[in-house]
Amino acid sequence: MTSTDPLWWEDAGRPSSPPRQELPGEADVVVIGAGLTGLTAARTLARAGRSVVVLDRGAPGIGGSGCNGGMIGGGHLLSLDEMIGRYGTEGGISLIREAQMNSTDFARGLIAEEEIDCDLQPTGRFRGLWNRREYEETARHLERLEQHMAVEAEMVPPERQREDVATDLYAGGIIYHRHGALNPAKFVAGMVEVARRHGALVQGDTPVTAVQPAGSALSVETDRGTVRAGEVLAATNGYTPRALRFAYRRIVPVPSFIAATEELGEDRLRELIPRGRMITESRDRHCYYRPSPDGKRLVLGGRAAMAPVPERFATFELKRLIRQIFPQIGDFEITHSWTGRAGFSHDFVPHVGRHDGIWHAMGYSGNGNTMAPYLGHKAALQILGDPEGDTAFARTEFPTRWYDRGRPWFLPFADVLFRAKDVRSRLFRRR
Ligand SMILES: Cc1cc2nc3c(=O)[nH]c(=O)nc-3n(C[C@H](O)[C@H](O)[C@H](O)COP(=O)(O)OP(=O)(O)OC[C@H]3O[C@@H](n4cnc5c(N)ncnc54)[C@H](O)[C@@H]3O)c2cc1C
Repeated sequence: MTSTDPLWWEDAGRPSSPPRQELPGEADVVVIGAGLTGLTAARTLARAGRSVVVLDRGAPGIGGSGCNGGMIGGGHLLSLDEMIGRYGTEGGISLIREAQMNSTDFARGLIAEEEIDCDLQPTGRFRGLWNRREYEETARHLERLEQHMAVEAEMVPPERQREDVATDLYAGGIIYHRHGALNPAKFVAGMVEVARRHGALVQGDTPVTAVQPAGSALSVETDRGTVRAGEVLAATNGYTPRALRFAYRRIVPVPSFIAATEELGEDRLRELIPRGRMITESRDRHCYYRPSPDGKRLVLGGRAAMAPVPERFATFELKRLIRQIFPQIGDFEITHSWTGRAGFSHDFVPHVGRHDGIWHAMGYSGNGNTMAPYLGHKAALQILGDPEGDTAFARTEFPTRWYDRGRPWFLPFADVLFRAKDVRSRLFRRR
């Protein structure tokens, strides 16, 4: 039987709610959502002496933060040319610098300072490039990026890619040396304890049903009562509820599916991924895969579908993708197959700011292990009125689209489009 629990829980334990406490009638700040964004924000606010209540509709860490692929390192998905085209030279470079450098430094520093045991490994990340054109573009992009920041990345030509991943599927790749691996469930469970240790009240199983103006404050409604809050931070990313109307129309909840193989053994894993790196790829299908922290299993995630599908379908599709990447793998079983929701913004850029009195930090577009703590921290600093809260991610408009009324009815159509692009790019792969 395939388990639908994330493999990570075997080591980290199933996310559970801290002991129930009565909700206070008032708090300086209420944070909605106990993932990496909300918990990091709570830590910063509580350390500054604010009374903070973090509410989650389920167990803290049950969202994307506890079930993701565990790859850490940001910014590699933002293209310098595109960012400069949209936000000007200074804006574009600032966004990429913060995503590539500052967010990774921040997340690593947080883990070190708070001594969070989350199997952090400095593995580096290999990004497989789908065709020669992408390889050449990426090499040019890297050259330009290096003029502005020390990205610590290198191109890997196709004849050397097997040193990192035993497949001929890619036309070469790029390695980001600052990226790494962790067990995400341990990271977020550690952050629950950190936020509590610094004085935040973290409560699970408490869905926020409405946020209403209440004089100069906001009233946060739950079925356990109402908390009057000086400030409210929405930290719900791919799980943003209808009650947070502004963000609900700006975040597209995209399901991502992950499977873990049975134990294949360290030797077999080393044959597939010799240096134990995190592997991602540039094709629209976008698979990401890695060895498990103990180096014995292959863990692969991907867009098995763009809408919720039965576990059996997702497992079948992920197994097919593993065989496509590693035809030599031989027989194996999938023991774990799970899913979570990543929060995509319409412009694929994370956003932090305030609208109608409610703060938000979200839209990490599948890359939140560094960006979520980083922007959670920045949002908290902005709430505190600290100029250190300044970030390029607060200077961009958080767009919606006319067709986005909240429910992502358009995802099945996007799925068809991505599948068609996938077929097309397979046909013209080597160009
Ligand atoms: C399958 C998958 C794989 C991924 N892989 C990677 C990866 O390898 N590397 C990487 O960097 N990023 C990855 N990501 C993205 C990353 O997980 C997210 O960007 C990040 O966890 C977002 O953190 P967050 O705290 O903003 O949101 P979440 O961790 O999703 O937390 C949001 C919380 O809001 C709560 N909530 C929702 N509604 C309410 C309500 N009404 N009241 C109270 N609480 C509410 C939810 O219960 C949830 O706990 C992946 C995402 C998924 C889904």
